[in-house]
Amino acid sequence: MGLIKNLKNVAKGHFLCKSVYRYINKGTDMNASQLRKQLQKLQREVSQSLWILKQRPPLIRGSVYALRRKCGKPVCRCQEGHLHESWVLSVPEEGRKRMRVVPPGKRMTWQQMTERYRRFRRARAHLVKLFAEIIKRVDELERERTAPPPE
Ligand SMILES: [Zn+2]
Repeated sequence: MGLIKNLKNVAKGHFLCKSVYRYINKGTDMNASQLRKQLQKLQREVSQSLWILKQRPPLIRGSVYALRRKCGKPVCRCQEGHLHESWVLSVPEEGRKRMRVVPPGKRMTWQQMTERYRRFRRARAHLVKLFAEIIKRVDELERERTAPPPE
């Protein structure tokens, strides 16, 4: 008699716990196994981002692009629309942009370094999102795994 009553109470407690969980997790409502799968997927994405961040080649902030302009001489081909082209590296510094002329033969290397920097920043931003998502899933898993206090 007492055992059955106890079991009923546990079942009731468990049911209550689940309803509260469902209420808190409106919108996601995943079970523990789905949450584990999600965490597994997120873990793989973290590894991919870290792999990018851990690379050795150097990075430079800024962007490399062609600047086309007139030189100011009264008689020059640029006056007829054939603008002078020079490649520059533009680096953001204290809200302003600092320009540096790209030395001959360095264009590809500098472009690659700035692309690497952008890739690094994207991976970092992705990592921030992933960690927030992981903590969210971990908290859901905690609620899913937490049993009612033993009577
Ligand atoms: Zn000119």
